Amino acid sequence: MPIVLPKLPYDYDALAPIVSGATLRFHYDRHHRAYIDALNALVRHTDLADRTLDVIIHRAAGRRANDPAAVAIFNNAAQAWNHAFYWQSLRPKGGGGPRGVLAARIEADFGSERGFADAFTAAATSHFGSGWAWLVLERGALRIVTTSNAGTPIVNGQTPLLVVDVWEHAYYLDYQQRRADYVANVVDNLLNWDFAAQTFARASEPSVQSAALPA
Ligand code: MN
Repeated sequence: MPIVLPKLPYDYDALAPIVSGATLRFHYDRHHRAYIDALNALVRHTDLADRTLDVIIHRAAGRRANDPAAVAIFNNAAQAWNHAFYWQSLRPKGGGGPRGVLAARIEADFGSERGFADAFTAAATSHFGSGWAWLVLERGALRIVTTSNAGTPIVNGQTPLLVVDVWEHAYYLDYQQRRADYVANVVDNLLNWDFAAQTFARASEPSVQSAALPA
C-alpha cells in the first residue's frame, strides 16, 4: 500500500484571512502531495515499501550517514509527516491559548501564555532558512525547538504537540517576506490547542497511552 495523502481537516478557505485559500491550495495540493508522490516512487521495490510513514522515517534517519538514497527518502517522508501534523496543528477560530492541564504547564515552563507566544514567535522568526517551529514534550518538559528543512522531532526523542511551517511557501503569497507577521497571526488565531492537549495527555499518562493503542 502506498502512503496516502491525508485529507485536509478543513476547507481550503477555512483559515482565511490568516492563511488564504490560495496558499492552502498550493501548499496542500502541490507541496504536500509532491512529497507523498516522491516518497512512494523512492521506496517502491525497496525494503521500505509497504511500511508506515513512521517506520520509514526512523529507518531512513538511521541510514542517512552512509546512504544517499536514504537522505532523499527521509526528506520526503519527514516532510509528508510534518505537513500532516501542521494541518492538525491549525484550526479555524483557533488560538486563544491552552486550557486545562496543558495551560498550567505552559505557565510553569514559559511564565505565561503570552510568554510562550512571544518565545515561539521569536524562535520561528529567527530560524534561518526553511524549516519548522515546534512545541514539543521532552522528558516531561515542554520546549520550543526549530528544525531545518525536513527535520522532525520524532527522530530526536521528542513528542511534538504543535508545529508551524516556516518554509516560505507557507506564507509568501499572503505575507511576502514578513514571516513574523505570519507566525504571530497563526499563534493568535489558528493554533489548535485541543489537538495539543490530546497529544499532551496521551504522552504524559502511560495508562491513557496504552488504552489508546489497538490490541
Ligand atoms: Mn510546507
